[in-house]
Parts: sequence; structure tokens; C-alpha cells
Amino acid sequence: MEEPNVGELKPPERVLLGPGPSNVHPRVLGAMNTSIVGHLDPYFVDIMDEVQDLLRYVFRTDNEWTLPVSGTGSASMEAGISNLVEPGDTVLVPSNGYFGARMESMAQRAGGETVRVDAPWGEPLDAVDVQEAFNEHQPDIFGFVQAETSTGTLQPDVSELVDIAHSHDALTIVDTVTSLGGVELHVDDWGIDVSYSAAQKCISCPPGASPLTLNDDAMDKILSRETEPRCWYLDLAELEDYWGDNRSYHHTAPVTNIFGLREALRIVAEEGIEERWNRHLRVSGALKSGIEAMGLEMNSRDDAWLPTLNAVRVPDGVDDDTILRRLVEEYNIEISAGLGDLEGEILRIGCMGHSARAQNVLYLVDALGEILD
Ligand code: PLP
Repeated sequence: MEEPNVGELKPPERVLLGPGPSNVHPRVLGAMNTSIVGHLDPYFVDIMDEVQDLLRYVFRTDNEWTLPVSGTGSASMEAGISNLVEPGDTVLVPSNGYFGARMESMAQRAGGETVRVDAPWGEPLDAVDVQEAFNEHQPDIFGFVQAETSTGTLQPDVSELVDIAHSHDALTIVDTVTSLGGVELHVDDWGIDVSYSAAQKCISCPPGASPLTLNDDAMDKILSRETEPRCWYLDLAELEDYWGDNRSYHHTAPVTNIFGLREALRIVAEEGIEERWNRHLRVSGALKSGIEAMGLEMNSRDDAWLPTLNAVRVPDGVDDDTILRRLVEEYNIEISAGLGDLEGEILRIGCMGHSARAQNVLYLVDALGEILD
């Protein structure tokens, strides 16, 4: 067999305004272009502490169990769901987007029985419907998505939904993949029991190490499980041996990704979390105004507009694929098409982290104007 002849790696420098990954700050790439150390090296052990503290800062939590899970957002999602859900648990999940459906699938694989609270794609859950679903099904766990990337919809009343769950003695899992570091989120003040996220969205770090935080109530349930979780790699009781006080080997942590995540989180802390939320509102607000001034329509109503992911209705008679292709080929900009129920109907424009800058949204609005002219 002949040796493969592949050229030097030269990825294009895109303006990343899709649903993630977002552009990465050069400082983060610099942190990843450093020597590797062992995952139990004393230097790395200190880095682990720092990353956990930085994660507590962005999640707004004092939760001891706060760690980056090795893998993409789906890994931290599966770590949260497959540890918390025990066979026979009833799990309430939303039907209003692609990632709610992924939650449902993971809860079922963990042995849970799922029931749904419905809302159309593009609309948030209604607290009255959540209350009714609790009265009808008495679920043990309620999972929902704060920022539904597939529809560009914000769930605006997270703490109210969490309160409903707690008044029924249920625990909550909140997907904050497209909100952490970009949209207001207070894990402790809102009483969220489990929250998972990803690095490549509003934190602007390459994917590979994904934030997860769990409070004591969630960990008590996990540590008193009657059966082991079905996965070994993501078993939090095992992982705690590495990320907790013992710092003993569980698996080889992606050291370089953790370095990158540390730098990305350090940038968040330097900017200040509240200023960062405000920047996303400001820059994405300018994008929304520009889009609407062109005569295009947002898909979500204003009280559920998600600044980190703008869903824009595809104008009648226009082919979404053509817009996406021309943006990449002529302007070097990535945005994305709709998924699932909204396939062909919306364009998804991310405004996340290091990509959420005025120059990017002005450039995109200009390019869209020329393409749609
Ligand atoms: N949840 C939401 C809301 C997401 O947007 C995504 C990814 O886009 C995920 C979960 C899964 O994350 P990943 O693709 O990093 O595995």
C-alpha cells in the first residue's frame, strides 16, 4: 500500500457566525500551542483547580462538583443525564427543539421513562404547561434547554421553571450550551441542580472539554444510586476521583484542551461576566436591527429572542442553500441552515464569544444585503 500523500494543513480563516464553533481568540490558540505535561503533573493539578474556579465563576455557582468533561457538549450532556437518571425515573423533557429531543433520547438510554411538555419549535415552554405536566406525571427530573440552538429561542423564565420542579421534589437539568458566557445565567441563585455546556460557543474555545456543574442535591442522588450508571467513561462517581481531592488517574485528560479552556475562561473573567452578557446583547441587538431593517423577519418573538443565536426567516422565493454557499465562497462567512421542523425555513446566525464583535455583524449584514439584492 502506498503512503498517502497529503499536503500541509492550511484551514481557511472564516468569520464564524454559525451555531458554533465560534472564532477563537489568538490567546487561546497560543495557550494550546504550548508544551504538553502529564495529566497528573503537579503543574497540571494546579491548572485543574484554576479551571474549576473559573468554571464556577462563569456558571455563577459555588458547586464543588464543577468540572470540564472530556469531549464535546454532548459528553457533558450525557454525563449529567446518564448519572442523574436512574432506571425507572420519570423524566420530563421539552418537545420544542432538536436538543430537547437529544435530552429525551439520552434519558431513555439511561433507563428513564420520558414524558413531554410541548411547545412549537421556535417558542419557549410555557410555565403553565410545565405546571400541568408536573401535576399529570409527577416527574423525578425535569430537563430543559435555556438557549435552543436549533430554533434561536431563549427560555426566559429559567428560575420559575426550576421552582415548579422543586415544589414537586424534582431535580432539574438545564442545557446551557449556547448560553454559558453569553446570556445571563445564575446557577445558584436560580436553584439549577445540574447544568452542562460546551466550550466552542460563547466561551470561544475549540471543542473538547465541556463544562458541567452539579449541586449537592444532584450529587446526593448520584452517589446513592442503586445501580451504576450505564457508562463507565462518564461515571461521575469515578470521575470525581480525578477531578476531586484525590487527583488519581481515571482517564488521560485532554491536557491541551484544558489549557485552551483555562485561557478562554481567563478572558471571560477579565472582561467580566456581566459585561460579556451585555456585549452579546449590544452586538447581537445591532445584528437584529440590521436584519429587520433589510425587511427580514426574526423567527422568535422578542421576549424569547436569543442573542447568541439569531433565527431569521428565509424570505419567500429565496433558497437558503444559495445564501449559505455564497456567504462562504464570496465573503468567507459561515452561518447555518435550519434543522428538523425548521429546515429550509430559517437561517441560524450565531453571535457568540469572540465572534460577537461589531465588525463581524456589520460585515454580515452588508454581505446579506448584497446577496439578497
Ligand atoms: N445542546 C445544545 C443546545 C447545542 O447547541 C449543542 C451543540 O450544538 C449540544 C447540546 C451538543 O454539543 P456538541 O455538538 O458540542 O456535542
